Amino acid sequence: MIYLDHNATSPVRKEVVEQIIPYFCEFSGNPSSVHTPGRTAQKGLDEARRKVARLVDVHESQVIFTSGGTEANNLALMGVASRFNFNGHIITSAIEHPSVLQVCELLESRGVKVTRLGVNDQGLVDLESFKVAITPETFLVSIMHANNETGVVQPVAQIANICSEKDILFHSDSVQSIAKLPVTLAKTGADLISLSAHKFGGPKGVGALIVDNHLKLPGLLLGGSQERGRRAGTENIPSIVGFGVAADLLLQEQKDYSEYMLGLRNQLEEKLSKLVPELIIFGNSSERLVNTTAVGIAGLDGETLVMHMDMAGFAISAGSACGSGRTNASHVLTAMGYDGAIGRSAVRISLGWDTKASDIDKFINVFSRTVKKLQQMSAPLTMAV
Ligand code: PLP
Repeated sequence: MIYLDHNATSPVRKEVVEQIIPYFCEFSGNPSSVHTPGRTAQKGLDEARRKVARLVDVHESQVIFTSGGTEANNLALMGVASRFNFNGHIITSAIEHPSVLQVCELLESRGVKVTRLGVNDQGLVDLESFKVAITPETFLVSIMHANNETGVVQPVAQIANICSEKDILFHSDSVQSIAKLPVTLAKTGADLISLSAHKFGGPKGVGALIVDNHLKLPGLLLGGSQERGRRAGTENIPSIVGFGVAADLLLQEQKDYSEYMLGLRNQLEEKLSKLVPELIIFGNSSERLVNTTAVGIAGLDGETLVMHMDMAGFAISAGSACGSGRTNASHVLTAMGYDGAIGRSAVRISLGWDTKASDIDKFINVFSRTVKKLQQMSAPLTMAV
């Protein structure tokens, strides 16, 4: 199987697996315990916190370990909204991950006003509409750094500047960008960013919310003083240790891998566009993550294409969501204006550090042949009379 779905999740790196195993057996203490096994677990936790902090260039006290990006997003929005007594106004975008969008819906039901900014056909939030949406009641802006489906990178530094001028908190979901762009809290200019380990070779079920030091965030969970009271519950030490190892490797290798993936992706897009001239690359005029290509071919069904590619030994994903037996365009593509035959045909190819040039060559070959075959199958039959 050739795996080209790194935006869904990436394989756990060998170095990560090796280093977390001892934390299941030899070093399995509870970091809250004062005895030697407890202190050993605490050491592993501290070390991982240092590594994650170094990756995003913050102080260790700014790292709150969570169960992943979903929880980090929930904690950011719910935590900040509770600081403002669920009063006021939040600005987000229509293309956020559901872990932002659904929390916004909940907050709305509790009385918080929510503006969801649209995007243009290249997947970009319009800064002018953003400025217009700000009101004296706006206390939080949550705009993702890069979109998981299209890879389109948002102008977060400019959004952050506007927020800081107006004294508004800025949260940015950086779950996808962290693996492919150098992301630090200062570079995004955000007060809070969400991370997830499984998008860059760490284990699933672990992530972090990085918070600016001036922000006192109440936890969502009650019943423990872990993570300085901001996330109660015994820490998932093996996974957190693995997150730290993956963060360390990412910091060392990010530049090389980013250049490598960009080379492969350019090759993929150039060759595919020649072989399948009707191919649309979503957001191709915008800055995009170096590993992500989301494409559509009018008239084809994305899910069917994904299944045929799976049978041929390639893992990619459909950029669409299934609803009541009918495949619809995703909320992201709909926001970009593709809700018809093109939106339903979308598939995403996302590369990783383990993708080889020969994988891309094989993929191009099989993908273009599969598209042709599906197009022939769906072509209307002409009857001879
Ligand atoms: N945010 C974005 C942009 C994502 O792509 C994802 C995962 O797909 C998440 C949040 C959720 O992260 P996790 O799977 O760690 O909960």
